Amino acid sequence: MQVIIAPDQKLRFKTTLVKKVTPKLLETLKEMEELAKTYLDPEGVGLAANQVGLTEQFFVAKLEDSKGKEVFKAYFNPKIISYSKTTKLFFEGCLSIPDYYGEITRPSAVEVSYMDKYGKGIKEKLTGFPAWVFQHEYDHLQGKLFMDLVLSQKAKLFKVVGKDRAGADIFEEVGI
Ligand SMILES: [Zn+2]
Repeated sequence: MQVIIAPDQKLRFKTTLVKKVTPKLLETLKEMEELAKTYLDPEGVGLAANQVGLTEQFFVAKLEDSKGKEVFKAYFNPKIISYSKTTKLFFEGCLSIPDYYGEITRPSAVEVSYMDKYGKGIKEKLTGFPAWVFQHEYDHLQGKLFMDLVLSQKAKLFKVVGKDRAGADIFEEVGI
């Protein structure tokens, strides 16, 4: 299993609904989590099924659980029920678009629904970072990439051109 890189057309298909969380899917989930964990710079915080060549509608994402501990969770058939009117500027990257980052404006909170790995339907409100991750991964499952938003929002796009002495990325703005 490996992460598919744009402009591969596999990233552009809308995924299909998951009817049942099978043991095989749970195994796949584990593999996706392990793969996401291998990305440390930038950190892999989420991975959608079609980023690894699958056609089902689900993603894994590293979010805080109720005790504030960061854990990978699976989201099957995710939906966004409503968006907040307030928006936030996110500095957004993607494992499928290495070295590029965009300044994307997105709703700062979303109300979402999905099925968890036990097949239970969940509805919750996400704000801040989790809201951003959910929207980014949801877009993947619709065949959309953050680059589409860079273009439609005429947003700023940056490329990593190297590292400074402290090991931090050096960004350079690129034209779109
Ligand atoms: Zn992505």
